[in-house]
Amino acid sequence: MALHILQNKSVNDDLFNKAAAGTPLSKFKIPDHEADPNTMYRLIKDELMLDGNSRQNLATFCQTYTEDQVHRLMDDCLDKNMIDKDEYPQTAEIESRCVNIIASLWNANPKDAIGTSTTGSSEACMLGGMAMKWRWRAAMKAKGKSCDKPNLICGPVQVCWHKFARYWDVELREIPMEGTRYVSNAQEVIKRCDENTIGVVQTLGITFTGQFEPVKEVADALDKLQKEKGWDIPIHVDGASGGFLAPFCAPDLVWDFRIPRVRSISTSGHKFALAPLGCGWVVWGNKKDLPEDLIFKVNYLGGDMPTFAINFSRPGGQIVCQYYNLLRLGREGYFKVQQGCYDVGKFLAKGLDRFGIFEFVYNSDPKKGIPAVTWKLKDGVKVPFTLYQLSDVLRERGWLVPAYTLPAHCENVAVQRVLIRHGCSYDLMELLLEDMDRAIKRLSAQSTETKTSPRGSFNHGR
Ligand SMILES: *Cc1c(COP(=O)(O)O)cnc(C)c1O
Repeated sequence: MALHILQNKSVNDDLFNKAAAGTPLSKFKIPDHEADPNTMYRLIKDELMLDGNSRQNLATFCQTYTEDQVHRLMDDCLDKNMIDKDEYPQTAEIESRCVNIIASLWNANPKDAIGTSTTGSSEACMLGGMAMKWRWRAAMKAKGKSCDKPNLICGPVQVCWHKFARYWDVELREIPMEGTRYVSNAQEVIKRCDENTIGVVQTLGITFTGQFEPVKEVADALDKLQKEKGWDIPIHVDGASGGFLAPFCAPDLVWDFRIPRVRSISTSGHKFALAPLGCGWVVWGNKKDLPEDLIFKVNYLGGDMPTFAINFSRPGGQIVCQYYNLLRLGREGYFKVQQGCYDVGKFLAKGLDRFGIFEFVYNSDPKKGIPAVTWKLKDGVKVPFTLYQLSDVLRERGWLVPAYTLPAHCENVAVQRVLIRHGCSYDLMELLLEDMDRAIKRLSAQSTETKTSPRGSFNHGR
């Protein structure tokens, strides 16, 4: 059979013998002529092999496992522009259903809430930050006070808040880490508040360690501050990861719109909400918290459709697939997926503990953070390698396990972190542990040849 196929196949049909494949792909100039689509497809697809395997990318927070139905819906929606609410009214309807569902998941009344899809948490945080700045400015103007020096208080935030501060001219008062405190706390927040504070950001799932910040404790302290000073300082929760974890795996943790001071919450659809890349959400618990003059009206079936976004055109498929996952999984399904991740995280932590050289900064506890394990070398432990070198050796087998130093005041602490996502099985983690064992043995054996200088810090902000 195989021989038969071989004999009938003309050598000239072979993709790699075609003229277009006879020269390297153009890299600087648009080619003068057209090319055969199959040849180009194959050559580009082959080039992408070098990206490695996203499932082994244990650095990313973004989901890398998708059901076939999601692939199909993405294909069905390839031509749908989210901004064309008039042309694609049903996609617009699906977006607004998602906002309703997410608002109620976060314990707001969908009738009072308002929100939008975005391209991710970064845009969602920008919008949340802008609403805070606009509200603060209106209040200051009403009091006849200066609006020149707005500030925003936060713990160790993801880079999007640094962007927000720079792009919108807001002073960022970032609470540094201290000792083994890797998140903000009430005392540190209150210390930095004044009448120019536009808001406080609390992160549910700090990028560097995976931990949740103490939203309720900070909100209570801000209530007290308001009584004393009259400053009504809102909280925005950056729930990029945690916004789709806590509702299922830590339902008793009070962090969302159950706290009146929490005015807005954002999340990445493409992280633990399990939508394809390019999807985020931001919700205000009450319409009055989103200033009218930030909203633009676009014509929608002869009516006015309000929009608040930075981009104009945007793909609709991610949003449709978000809706698919909300319906397909429900509370039960999301709980199973996320709790499964936490459990696998615990399993990984147990395995890592057996090496006897690591100390956990955080290890996959649903009440305290996201499904992740973050560790450092135990104080005083003597090993002839750094976490950076361990990371490099693991990469030889395709595993991306970032090593990086913590931010301000803990710059001397190098950590390594694994994100456990949907599709991260016990078996995969067992294979990772075996590879780690081999890597540690090899690095220890080679110790005389090893260099000790760490390379630059890994881009862990994703
Ligand atoms: C990932 C992340 C962001 C940025 O989200 P994108 O969806 O990648 O734009 C913001 N904040 C936190 C806490 C994150 O984990």
